[in-house]
Amino acid sequence: MTDVDVEVDVLCAGLGPAGARAAAAAAKRGLRVLAVDRKREPGLPVQCAEFVPALIGSNVGGLARSVRQSIRAMETYVETEVPDLTDPFPGQMLDRAAFDAALAEEAVDAGATCRFATTVRAVGRDGSVALSDGTCVRAHVLIGADGPRSVVGRAIGSINRHLVETRQVTVRLLEPHDATDIFLSAATPGGYAWLFPKGDVANVGAGVDPAHKDRLKDIVGDLHRGLVAAGRVGREILARTGGAIPVGGMVKSTGALGTTPVLLAGDAAGLANPVTGAGIAAAVHSGTLAGDAAAAALEDPAQARADYEDELDALFAVALSRAVRRREELAHAMQTDALPRSAALRRGWVAYPEYWAP
Ligand SMILES: Cc1cc2nc3c(=O)[nH]c(=O)nc-3n(C[C@H](O)[C@H](O)[C@H](O)COP(=O)(O)OP(=O)(O)OC[C@H]3O[C@@H](n4cnc5c(N)ncnc54)[C@H](O)[C@@H]3O)c2cc1C
Repeated sequence: MTDVDVEVDVLCAGLGPAGARAAAAAAKRGLRVLAVDRKREPGLPVQCAEFVPALIGSNVGGLARSVRQSIRAMETYVETEVPDLTDPFPGQMLDRAAFDAALAEEAVDAGATCRFATTVRAVGRDGSVALSDGTCVRAHVLIGADGPRSVVGRAIGSINRHLVETRQVTVRLLEPHDATDIFLSAATPGGYAWLFPKGDVANVGAGVDPAHKDRLKDIVGDLHRGLVAAGRVGREILARTGGAIPVGGMVKSTGALGTTPVLLAGDAAGLANPVTGAGIAAAVHSGTLAGDAAAAALEDPAQARADYEDELDALFAVALSRAVRRREELAHAMQTDALPRSAALRRGWVAYPEYWAP
């Protein structure tokens, strides 16, 4: 790619939480930012169970407008045993589309140009980027915030090789509930099922290893039917969604294409938690750091890349490597019966002290 139609300081691929925050942070530092997303509107369709831990609130402006209910606790069902209660386990249920829209608005307010319905079609070896509207963009810094199957990440060889596939339905919630319900079972290999309450509706879903993707419909259908029989949720399905979650842990978060420094953030950098699948908070945080690092990269690209990698390591490496290890141990235990199944499931889930043990 040689023809350049647009030159900017920063091109941000993706306007999910990571991309919107990166665009806002870079624009706030006075950089010329173009951010694009293939979605027609921010956050739609929603591909999320919409829970965030309470801590995220400290630095996200659009959060208040997007919260739909508070979460107090977590109830973990191991196979058919009586659930274990983790209280407190504070957090919030979001309207994820409203949240993503608020973050995109913040980026626009900061001075970024945000274009929806615009796909990154190709990333050249020289760092130039071809968009679906025919534009060829030359950016001084390229930020890949384009999710688990990032095309920017692929261009620098940073690929999320392990994914979980998910399926979710939204249904009426018949009784108010303020806990996230987690269903652990050997019948949900490589993942778990959930009910997350959001006011008068609930997100009911499951994630599994891709090898078992064809079981997802039955897993979610069975859970939904069980909850209907228990009088907890309605039969009617109000919405369906799904999507991939990276579960292999961090990939190399920076690279270069020609002289263009490349920074990855959020799911593109493999920052979703491999056990819980939670990635919103990490996307918000890493996106902000990537936007700041882009400004530094205009001065000293090598130093900015090294500093960004160090910051991500400091924030995420310990938690993510523990989660990767616990996933592997659980998979091994399920194959070999090395531990009783319920003990293996407990060691593989964040609610239990065994998970946090050395
Ligand atoms: C079913 C499901 C449930 C989940 N539930 C939770 C939860 O309850 N809590 C939680 O914390 N996390 C949850 N997650 C994970 C969470 O959604 C992600 O970790 C988070 O969205 C990551 O943010 P991001 O900005 O990195 O990526 P994304 O939100 O995926 O944003 C990437 C953006 O890039 C755009 N894009 C991709 N390719 C291109 C391209 N070529 N050109 C232009 N644009 C492109 C996409 O349209 C998208 O808008 C869930 C995920 C799934 C699939």
